[in-house]
Amino acid sequence: MMRKTALVTGASRGIGRGIALQLAQEGWDICVNYLQQQHAAEDTAARIRSMGRSAVAIQADVADRTSVTHMVRDAETCLGPISLLVNNAGISVSGLFQDLSDDVWDRHMAVNLGGARNAIQAVLPRMLDQKSGCIINISSMWGLRGASCEVAYACSKAALVGLTRSLALELAPSGIRVNCVAPGCIDTDMVRKLGDDTRAMLVEETPLGRLGTPEDIAHAVAFFASEKASFLTGQILTADGGFTV
Ligand code: NAP
Repeated sequence: MMRKTALVTGASRGIGRGIALQLAQEGWDICVNYLQQQHAAEDTAARIRSMGRSAVAIQADVADRTSVTHMVRDAETCLGPISLLVNNAGISVSGLFQDLSDDVWDRHMAVNLGGARNAIQAVLPRMLDQKSGCIINISSMWGLRGASCEVAYACSKAALVGLTRSLALELAPSGIRVNCVAPGCIDTDMVRKLGDDTRAMLVEETPLGRLGTPEDIAHAVAFFASEKASFLTGQILTADGGFTV
């Protein structure tokens, strides 16, 4: 049977870590990408190994094409060809649009959108060779409905929806599926940094009455990655506790 190898970007903590652990449980070997938090990434990789799967933690800024190319090369040397890519690494900075600097705007586009482009272009040659593969982009409900004071973030996440649908069409004849998960408010550092009051307000606004967990998103990703989703491509699955309904 062919080895199942996945690259999950931003898998040191939060949603990416949840995705990496769930995929490992479902038989995937994992490249755990991270930016700065080496200790956390090594911990994720160690937990995957303790589940009997292979894992390697590799540092790379997804915004940097050369680093991403090197990461994919090293991951494939250790784990074999990557057949599943989860573009999860992302950043969000809040503030008024009027005050938005070029740097903050550019960094959102470079990490959230450019990171997905870099990683896809790095894994694609092998997927095209194999005539199979699966790409899952992590967007956000804010990319679907708009977010006051997070314009750059929402734009970059909306662009991931366009990327998903367009690439799904382009890559379908090559047997490669491209899908997207759009999370609502998930209990990670990204939401915790907004403070307790905002967190409580987000819980209140979520019809299911709680924040999501990384596992909630990981289950949606694992579904897209599975054979059960073999006829699904170009889809956006919103996992938000009913927030956008
Ligand atoms: P988080 O807790 O802030 O974790 C971010 C992860 O991304 C970390 O592993 C971080 O690595 C990594 N990362 C950041 N910049 C990177 C870069 N340039 N290159 C490589 N890795 C990078 O975020 P999260 O809440 O888990 O969010 C994960 C994804 O879900 C993001 O795309 C986010 O936009 C999306 N999302 C989150 C929510 C939410 O409510 N939390 C809602 C909708 C969508 P280090 O640990 O090394 O810094």
